[in-house]
Amino acid sequence: MSPGSPTALHGWGRTSPSVASVRTPTGAVEVAEAVRGAGDRGVLARGLGRSYGDPAQNAGGTVLDMTRHRGVRRLDVDAAVVEVEAGTSLDELLRVLLGVGLTLPVQPGTRQVSVGGAVAADVHGKNHHVAGSFGAHVRWLDLLTADGEVQRLRPDGPDPELFWGTVGGMGLTGVVLRAELSVRRVETSSVVVTSERHGDLGEVMDALTRLDHEAEYSVAWFDSISRGRGSGRGVVLSGHDARLEELPEADRGAPYAVPPPRSVAVPLVPPASLVNRLSGRAFNELWFRRAPRHPTTGVEHAFGFFQPLDGVASWNRLYGPRGLAQYQLAVPHDAAAVVPAVVAAVAASGHVSCLNVLKRFGPGTPSPLSFPLPGWTLALDLPVAAGLAGLLDRLDAMVLEAGGRVYLAKDSRTPAHHLAAMYPDLPRFAALRRRVDPEGRFASDLARRLGLLTPTPAREAYP
Ligand SMILES: Cc1cc2nc3c(=O)[nH]c(=O)nc-3n(C[C@H](O)[C@H](O)[C@H](O)COP(=O)(O)OP(=O)(O)OC[C@H]3O[C@@H](n4cnc5c(N)ncnc54)[C@H](O)[C@@H]3O)c2cc1C
Repeated sequence: MSPGSPTALHGWGRTSPSVASVRTPTGAVEVAEAVRGAGDRGVLARGLGRSYGDPAQNAGGTVLDMTRHRGVRRLDVDAAVVEVEAGTSLDELLRVLLGVGLTLPVQPGTRQVSVGGAVAADVHGKNHHVAGSFGAHVRWLDLLTADGEVQRLRPDGPDPELFWGTVGGMGLTGVVLRAELSVRRVETSSVVVTSERHGDLGEVMDALTRLDHEAEYSVAWFDSISRGRGSGRGVVLSGHDARLEELPEADRGAPYAVPPPRSVAVPLVPPASLVNRLSGRAFNELWFRRAPRHPTTGVEHAFGFFQPLDGVASWNRLYGPRGLAQYQLAVPHDAAAVVPAVVAAVAASGHVSCLNVLKRFGPGTPSPLSFPLPGWTLALDLPVAAGLAGLLDRLDAMVLEAGGRVYLAKDSRTPAHHLAAMYPDLPRFAALRRRVDPEGRFASDLARRLGLLTPTPAREAYP
């Protein structure tokens, strides 16, 4: 293993970098050596760095880059299960699976995510309302715990608390080395997508509610920049895995084709954010006009439907040297009014969110820190600018009041006392941590910032 060199690490939002000693283990023995030898500032696994804030950073401590710990170990096509190393990216895994007519049951908005990172954040996709989150499809996982030993954990095994604490546990229970996942059979690598334009946010929300019962996949994008008649207009996308007979005849000979890995990239960080009200308005106009006026249905490659942003590498650089904050909230169904209220608060603040993604969640998992809850989820991409922290604190207050929460994988700024009220099972997570890591070997910037291991009492949480 590399001896470990001081390296500045940041998340996808490019905010708050911190320096850690980065080591690149290639096997369990090297991971155990690093964990047993962890100093006062502790140790943490890192995947592909696609969380937005600081969950994969550990200032002054050790960070284990798990991306060399990769590959498919076993694929049982008949049983539809795959055993995979935790550092494998979903992109690599999907290319193997699709080759034999299988796919992942849950896919986030980028394939540049490791299996370990997908477990640790319990990621969700456009089918959460029917399939739940990533953790629901993990049959077992091998976790290297603070004592340097490896435990095979199952949801119905002898220690379900540690299994579910690891799902959504942001790397704080140990290092996931390997997992076995249930996968799903598909007839093609395409999706049949229906696209509907709607004139305002209320219509967009009505359409998503209807699609809960009609569609396997559903998601909406809406415009929060345009004023007057264009305000809140949006495009609702829904779909299902394409069957062979739904492909254009010319494509039926190669139903599992996948595009080659991408090559376009944003080469440099511009001196100032290129994402602003002007470019945002143009982008929103283009996106809205691209969608046909009347509902249309067509066949699209799954990669383009699930991960449209993967076509451009390092697009986060467009936000300039100050970076971006993604604010993703979830609120229960009966608090649907929070969605337009948040959008109105952002508009009134003068801050710009170019990309607003709305979706409905189904039931969550038993994990104490997993994000999804039955209701609405809204994600906003906000360039970092003066006054943004104050705005996001105000949004937190609205989310808290509604019994909702923000997503740890996207967070870079929530105060600890807000977080404790958003995640009422945090004390259960802290107790699990004391049991499996009494000396506090696993640590992260996120855990220190949010007091995840020594929670602030929820009673004190309201701002
Ligand atoms: C463009 C974009 C779109 C996205 N869309 C979605 C979406 O639709 N749905 C969604 O849920 N998320 C989404 N995300 C967030 C992303 O899926 C999560 O942040 C995911 O955790 C990133 O995985 P990673 O491998 O990059 O992990 P990192 O960012 O490197 O790490 C994230 C966490 O995982 C832990 N971790 C990583 N590897 C291991 C391991 N082997 N063992 C234990 N812990 C580990 C780290 O300690 C850290 O706490 C999106 C992110 C981007 C940039």
